[in-house]
Amino acid sequence: MATAKKTTTAKAPAKKKAAPKKKPKELISIIVPCYNEEDMIDLCHKAITKAIDPLPYDFEIIYINDGSSDKTQELLEKTYKSDKRAVIINLSRNFGKEAAMTAGIDSAKGTALIILDADLQDPPELIKELIKIWKDTGADVVYGQRMEREGETWLKKFTAKSFYSVINYIANNVEIPKNTGDFRLMNRRSIDALIQLREKHRFMKGLFAWIGYKQVAMPYNRAPRAAGETKWNYFQLCNLALEGIAGFSTVPLRVASIFGLIISMISFIFGAFIIFKTIFFGSDVAGWASLSVMISFFSGLQLLSIGILGEYIGRIFGESKKRPLYFIESTSTN
Ligand code: UDP
Ligand code: MG
Repeated sequence: MATAKKTTTAKAPAKKKAAPKKKPKELISIIVPCYNEEDMIDLCHKAITKAIDPLPYDFEIIYINDGSSDKTQELLEKTYKSDKRAVIINLSRNFGKEAAMTAGIDSAKGTALIILDADLQDPPELIKELIKIWKDTGADVVYGQRMEREGETWLKKFTAKSFYSVINYIANNVEIPKNTGDFRLMNRRSIDALIQLREKHRFMKGLFAWIGYKQVAMPYNRAPRAAGETKWNYFQLCNLALEGIAGFSTVPLRVASIFGLIISMISFIFGAFIIFKTIFFGSDVAGWASLSVMISFFSGLQLLSIGILGEYIGRIFGESKKRPLYFIESTSTN
């Protein structure tokens, strides 16, 4: 895992007397999770190499095949044979992007790493800029922040915006920067911090923010997908949003209790009113309409509260099993 912490020597020129030109360069790891990206592998590798070739660093490009069912693995093997900077981690099945990224982060040997999507939505040309900001500001994390969401519907933009507002309002202690994805550079210190967070329910944006340290934004325009299609549908996005909220906040639980409290108070007053009315004015068997409305309202509220409780219990269940985040089928390194 993170044992290779000291394999790279950022500044070791002193001992190298004989061959000053061959001074070891700093190693930077690039992490690319791939799931059914057969259309993208070649394009992606070309774009990455084009971007990194002129840079004065050593690179390892870690591709994680997240249990693809198409030719992704085959193409990755080919890439790996033709470029000795490529490393292939082949997972035993599809574990999801979060786990795939974690597999890459765990095995990164660089003094810094950069996470990229295989679909080129995070432009590899910006690797240079990320490194520059990292070096200039001395930040621990430089995260890409989307300025425009090209090729996305207004509904997606709107839901994304609302999501950030809600989560930042209710999340305990973490501020998740708006319009950020996984595209970022992290230095060794923040990588080592992130590696320690082994929770099964991985809301990465939250985890990235949770570790703290100095984090700096790099604004960029996120391009539309170059080929293939997104693996996220709305249902999965809703799940991700829920994951974020339930993973980083206990506010929904509190809201349920507060609702319960307010409604109990109201019903107490209402009860007192009915008793008072019956004693002094007698009972005229009316009121079935209000009764049925109340019954259905409260049943709905109870179900909702049980549902909220269930979300958290489900998470406890998931975490308590302590299963590993992923399994590796094979690794190819040069
Ligand atoms: N991905 C993955 N495992 C999955 C789903 C996606 O490794 O189960 C990878 C995918 O190959 C791509 C990145 O995660 O490199 C982003 O996926 P996608 O483009 O579908 O997401 P979007 O850009 O729409 O958020
Ligand atoms: Mg994408």
